[in-house]
Amino acid sequence: MIAAAHRLFQRIPPTAQRGLLLALVPLVAVLPLPDFWITQLNYIGLYSLVAMGLVLLTGVGGLTSFGQAAFVGIGAYTSAYLCVSMGVSPWITLWVGLAITAVSALLVGWLTLRMSGHYLPLATIAWGLSLYYLMGNLAALGKYDGILGVPALSLFGWDVSQGRPFFVLVWLVVFLGAFALLNLLNSRTGRAIRALKSATQMAEAMGVHTLQHKVGIFLIAALFASVSGWLFAHFQRTVNPSPFGLKMGIEYLFMAVLGGVGHVWGAITGALFTKIMEDQLQVLLPKLIGTSGSYEVIVFGIVLVLVLKYLPDGVWSLIGRHFPTSQRPNTWFKAERLPERSKPAMGDVVLDVQKIRKQFGGLVAVNDISFQVKAGQIVGLIGPNGAGKSTTFNLVTGVLGLTSGTVTFRGEVISGRPSREIALRGMSRTFQHVKMIPDMTVLENVALGAHLRGDKGALSAMLRLDKDEENRLFGEAARQLERIGMAEHMHDLAGNLAMGPQRLMEIARALCSDPALLLLDEPAAGLRHKEKQALAAVLRQLRSEGMSILLVEHDMDLVMDVTDHIVVMEFGTYLMSGTPAEVQASELVRAAYLGTEH
Ligand code: ADP
Ligand code: MG
Repeated sequence: MIAAAHRLFQRIPPTAQRGLLLALVPLVAVLPLPDFWITQLNYIGLYSLVAMGLVLLTGVGGLTSFGQAAFVGIGAYTSAYLCVSMGVSPWITLWVGLAITAVSALLVGWLTLRMSGHYLPLATIAWGLSLYYLMGNLAALGKYDGILGVPALSLFGWDVSQGRPFFVLVWLVVFLGAFALLNLLNSRTGRAIRALKSATQMAEAMGVHTLQHKVGIFLIAALFASVSGWLFAHFQRTVNPSPFGLKMGIEYLFMAVLGGVGHVWGAITGALFTKIMEDQLQVLLPKLIGTSGSYEVIVFGIVLVLVLKYLPDGVWSLIGRHFPTSQRPNTWFKAERLPERSKPAMGDVVLDVQKIRKQFGGLVAVNDISFQVKAGQIVGLIGPNGAGKSTTFNLVTGVLGLTSGTVTFRGEVISGRPSREIALRGMSRTFQHVKMIPDMTVLENVALGAHLRGDKGALSAMLRLDKDEENRLFGEAARQLERIGMAEHMHDLAGNLAMGPQRLMEIARALCSDPALLLLDEPAAGLRHKEKQALAAVLRQLRSEGMSILLVEHDMDLVMDVTDHIVVMEFGTYLMSGTPAEVQASELVRAAYLGTEH
């Protein structure tokens, strides 16, 4: 029966599915369920909101926080205090709570997220503890006794703070929150967020301000927690510090991981399982071991270890595999084209590299290298393995800082600037070791390249006000994939591609940014003969359109075939440069290759 219902559900278009879920909420509320279950479901809803924030922050963004309970506390205490001591309406205190949460999240996030990721978990523990003791010691907040007599929430004179009305309120908020997060993850900002965990370097090279996005998801997760706290205060009608301590902070993380920290629905699944398990254990454990105490914590720990070992994607992964991931409707093919930047005139110097140098400790990886790339030129950078070609790329694109020297791009000195600012000026690149987001489609990965050609942020994405822009970005991504002969792989998961197509995908992604200079680091590695020929054709076509290309490549046939000018490096130093014919004839070059590679 479940299978049949599920098949039926899948036939319904995605927006209607969401409507159906929302309609289900009041329907469940009028079912003759025991009150006890309604109360449990109310708690599960409150927990789900916090865990959903953690899915975004930890599961998607790769940032761990033990301090979410503290943000729940801010939402709860702000509302309780303002309502009880000042008689402010709860519908106003909600926004005050969110504002205070936002300020504290931005502060904690901004201070800790600039350091390496490991500081965040520690900082959130400290944050959780200090807020807990603050709540417990401030006389105005009633110390450890807390604040009593928090007023009920009423809507048009109707008490919605308890039982079934509260159930409807909480679960509508939960589902709307879930939809907002799903919308967010499936957007321009969402693609940038999904790059945070494993591909920050690539994201920066596509123009994403990764620190800003990290702070952003920390903020959103905190706001979700704060809303949960506001609801909690008016549901319990009293607040005290204990539900907002570190233990609860850990439990929220437990819920997210148990349910499936990579999926929005995993948060709800985790909250459900945790609450049910907690209740069962509170009955079961005293019978088994004869004493009451918080032994359930031990069981939770064991369950967590087992889940991580046998079901690393959480319980939801068992359920979720039966649901297709929601794709945006393919309406982008009729979208208007994105505007293009003005390109340098043929023959203008696009890139001027002067005596750039990079030292890694005692090793001089790039030793005072100079060269130029002119508009409409393909310049090859060759040399044996370890010659410093990739490092040169990293210096030019701002991925690495220069030890000395200058890089001028289209007349502007860009050395010292971060790679996202260089990307903004029209330089785009691929990586020697492909960098992508494997669980996104090829089309989405390529669309990340157009990040700087859109400007819609998180809020527009959550409210789906970004449809036009998304269509244009996807239209551009599709066009670039077609251009490079990858159209038939558009909807494949990037992680399922073979090496050759992965490299082509990276080129399409770089092209998606509408660059004036393209840097390709070994684009033909792993390509089959036919694919190499297609690549050569694409490179020639790009050049004929006025594109300038800097190419690092080991396949000499390809290099000799497509380049106009070649710079040869060896052990970090300049060896010679010239036309392909001159380089081929050079004894120096032959010696360099024979000397180090054979
Ligand atoms: P190529 O791309 O020409 O094969 P690379 O630029 O990758 O060469 O490397 C040049 C030299 O710099 C090599 O000796 C390499 O080991 C060294 N190197 C590259 N990156 C680093 C790094 N981050 N730290 C230390 N040494 C590095
Ligand atoms: Mg290299």
